Amino acid sequence: MLLSRSLCTGRLLPACSLGSARLRSIPSASRSVSTEAAGDMGPKVIDLRSDTVTRPGPEMRKAMFDAHVGDDVFRDDPTVLQLEKKTATLTGMEAALFVPSGTMGNLICIMTHCWGRGSEIFVGDQSHIFLWEQGGSAQVAGVHPHPLRNNPDGTFSTEELRRKVREDDPHCPITSLVCIENTHNMCGGRSLPIPWIDEVVTVAGTLGIPVHVDGARLLNAAVKEGVPPARLLRGCSSVSLCLSKGLGAPIGSLIAGSHSFIQRALRVRKLLGGGMRQVGILAAAGIYALDHQFRRLEEDHSRARYLAQKIAEIAHPMVGVDVDGVHTNIVLLRLNTEVGGEEGISVLMGPMGDDVVRFVLHCDVRAEDVDLAASKFETVIKAIPWEIPSSSGRETKGREP
Ligand SMILES: *Cc1c(COP(=O)(O)O)cnc(C)c1O
Repeated sequence: MLLSRSLCTGRLLPACSLGSARLRSIPSASRSVSTEAAGDMGPKVIDLRSDTVTRPGPEMRKAMFDAHVGDDVFRDDPTVLQLEKKTATLTGMEAALFVPSGTMGNLICIMTHCWGRGSEIFVGDQSHIFLWEQGGSAQVAGVHPHPLRNNPDGTFSTEELRRKVREDDPHCPITSLVCIENTHNMCGGRSLPIPWIDEVVTVAGTLGIPVHVDGARLLNAAVKEGVPPARLLRGCSSVSLCLSKGLGAPIGSLIAGSHSFIQRALRVRKLLGGGMRQVGILAAAGIYALDHQFRRLEEDHSRARYLAQKIAEIAHPMVGVDVDGVHTNIVLLRLNTEVGGEEGISVLMGPMGDDVVRFVLHCDVRAEDVDLAASKFETVIKAIPWEIPSSSGRETKGREP
């Protein structure tokens, strides 16, 4: 499929541009996307590639400017400690630790749980840890990933989990961790059903295996479910949360767990080069994000659903969208053909494989942009020819979200 191919060629294309279209003719160098710079100069760009594209606004920057700082490797930075304390409370965990990214957060948690050699972890076969983190658990940590088949709603069978846990047998790795992902990115931002989370916790508990939650977007799930984030972590041993996605901070993730877990995680963070110094400047952005941008996630969710509904109303047989499956800020469009459209407004999205395109709502999308995007979708989708040139062969998956 053309949309995903343009990414798979390794170019740093700004994902697919539904509308400026004719992807084949987009120059190979990254056509730089600057919503700030777009201004009056070029076409209006509504950037829905990911919720990572947000830029800190003036108030967040002011909080960063005013932050009290110290050397965080000495645990001397008061702003970092404040962010960690706040996160521990939010997640219902004893302690938390500020880390540079979600990928490092997951890896630190895996290495902290799998202390010693010969471990394996259960991961969903559509999970971020399994698909999009360079196999860091194997590459860096020496931990064997054991995939479980993800259902379309981001869950997996707890029966399969039970069946695949290894006996204490010298032929086998030691099953040391179960990882779940909430919300589930590749499953379209689905929020995991709470009864299923409880079931995983129970099953893992009887097997004596801890549960880690890749909660890059856990706060979106909490807003969707209408419960505190801590409820989604009940009985889980660790979590990793991103500040730099829908919460709109420029950088940073937090991991949380028990006091002893975080003590050990501190060692691993330093090992991986994640010990940072006067990072109260960044933690201040995180505190601002939690205080001011958490509650507004609901707005992204309703806009995502609104756009999905608009696309569903067009009822074009070549573009499928599961409106009821839109739980949070992510929408997956299933495409059957190439798309084209007029110039003037560009909507940027991210291909996720052969025939799926993802778009994500975030705090930098203004209310008026939502309707502009909707009308752009309509124009483009209606322009899709009914006679579909057959696309040949399957391809490798799209780029990392
Ligand atoms: C983005 C993401 C991560 C990784 O976060 P980075 O900060 O980009 O390293 C991990 N898990 C999920 C589900 C994500 O969406």
